[in-house]
Amino acid sequence: AMPLIIVTGLPTSGKTTRAKQLHAYLTERIKQASAGSGAGAGAGSAPTPKYRLHLISDQTLSIRRSVYDLSALPAHTRSANASEKDARASLYGAVKRVLSDKDIVILDGLNYIKGWRYQLFCEAKAVRTPSCVLQVGCSKERSQGVNEERLARQNRTGGDGAKPATSAADTGNGNGNGNAAVDEEQGGEKKEEGESREDDDEEPYEPGNWENLVFRYEEPNAMTRWDSPLFTLIWEDGEAQTRQVFDSLWDAVAGEARKPVKPHQ
Ligand code: ADP
Ligand code: MG
Repeated sequence: AMPLIIVTGLPTSGKTTRAKQLHAYLTERIKQASAGSGAGAGAGSAPTPKYRLHLISDQTLSIRRSVYDLSALPAHTRSANASEKDARASLYGAVKRVLSDKDIVILDGLNYIKGWRYQLFCEAKAVRTPSCVLQVGCSKERSQGVNEERLARQNRTGGDGAKPATSAADTGNGNGNGNAAVDEEQGGEKKEEGESREDDDEEPYEPGNWENLVFRYEEPNAMTRWDSPLFTLIWEDGEAQTRQVFDSLWDAVAGEARKPVKPHQ
């Protein structure tokens, strides 16, 4: 059985960047696993992959940032967060549709509600597949800086929020994107702090929405079943550390060290 990997972190903390790196890493591991032992390193016909890999996110489902904005509606409005509930329902549906013993699912998103992570954990358990949490650690200040950069870029380009959420092309092949993300990190020249990233066209959060999400954020707790095993990458973690964390993540959920998943007691 193959697992569900729940990515979590503050808004604009680097979750998608890590999710794409993990996607690229898992693509390689799956290729190796499918080639099997003894299979020559032939560059010939690729064997049928043993597992399918899925990257699910707000972007792939065209979920706007505004669904998280509780201030968008007047207080005391009946279910002010109805749109967020709808968004969660479509994320849940997307996960449920593909989660199986042949599928690895990376769920890239805020995943900031404890009860929501518990629900996902139970869903994985129900199909007897392991789950784990990848926490993306980043200071509040830096995350805020990233969001402000995006807001500034949106204003420069005259964006008024009417821009469609990331194009469908992004959902097609996370592979290429993932490699690009890794290349960028290990590339010789690092982009300077605050320098605008022209390749970054993700939708920003309205400042009030961003603040409120940080306030609402429920940190994962490795002591709870649904937040474990818990893996953490911080912004500063470079290529070597990232690989090490991905290696142990693989070992825990797909490798020899994986514990059998018992049905709900
Ligand atoms: P999120 O998905 O949490 O909103 P992103 O992954 O989109 O965050 O990252 C926001 C911005 O920060 C992007 O421009 C990305 O290139 C940059 N970034 C993210 N993580 C890192 C990192 N570890 N080192 C350097 N830049 C990063
Ligand atoms: Mg993201």
